[in-house]
Amino acid sequence: MSSLRLWMSLSLLVLLLSACNTQFPETCPSRTPIGLANANEIASDDSLPFRFPLNESPIDENLYYGWFGVSNECTPDIVDCYEFPERKFHAAEDYKRPAGTPVYAMADGIISYSGRAGGYGWLILIDHPQANLYSLYGHLSPSRWKLKAGTEVERGDLIAYLGDSDENGGSKEQPLVTHLHFGIRAGQTADYPARGEWRYMGGWIKLCPQDVGWLQPSLVITGQEIPAGGYPQPNVGFLTRWGLELLFASLFTVGGVSMLINAYKKKTRFLLLLPGSIIIVAGIVFNHNGLMRGYMLPLIGILILIAGIYYYIRRPIPKLHDRS
Ligand SMILES: [Zn+2]
Repeated sequence: MSSLRLWMSLSLLVLLLSACNTQFPETCPSRTPIGLANANEIASDDSLPFRFPLNESPIDENLYYGWFGVSNECTPDIVDCYEFPERKFHAAEDYKRPAGTPVYAMADGIISYSGRAGGYGWLILIDHPQANLYSLYGHLSPSRWKLKAGTEVERGDLIAYLGDSDENGGSKEQPLVTHLHFGIRAGQTADYPARGEWRYMGGWIKLCPQDVGWLQPSLVITGQEIPAGGYPQPNVGFLTRWGLELLFASLFTVGGVSMLINAYKKKTRFLLLLPGSIIIVAGIVFNHNGLMRGYMLPLIGILILIAGIYYYIRRPIPKLHDRS
């Protein structure tokens, strides 16, 4: 295939993909948590499958960051609202408590992630295969004791402590109110490939959380019900698409690396370096955020297209050698 045709097809592919970019909602149903006043009672009943991750009533009447499904934009209900450059929705419930408050596993399971993670300070994820759920505990303390990934836990096992305001995702300059960000999602961590804001670490996401498998935590806990076969996976369309995104991510990355190798071998084809690098960046963007970065995709497509046209005008189309 000539390099021009390669460029044209790649840019077309990127532009097409950008055309099927997701439409983001303006609002999502927002729900206040329930049953928090009975947290101790629920925790002490070992016959129940779930419990709240904190002992004693974790509720603070002042909403902090918002409850499940709430938008990041300030409303009269949100006392201490947080500004993002774009609209996002909260995929969890925040329980405001002092630093050092012990955090417990909400159900039997196995820790699938325990580590530093951006704005979470320290983050722990627990898979609960018996219910086909995983739970997410954010803003934990990196400096205090916590369990490692791979550890099997039982409902009520101590897993970590809440972090101080300068280590829980906040800093000395911008302290973060000490609180637990607690999320529950249908499916297992492995069902959500890669990282990224709307994937397995999504705390605030651009889609309605319930549309991509997040459940209202206090509703699951007070419901105490495990459907036969576990909680159903979220909209299969999304999962299929995530697979597609990973496929495109690998295609772009392999394609970009091949172009760079080609450029190196030909020695003179420096122009190959530009689209090669752009395609690698596209691969990384896809792997991180999938189709969510709508504005990045047309830009990448146009850049590749311009590079191809420029190359076409400058010299006759060379044939790429078959051997690599
Ligand atoms: Zn939160």
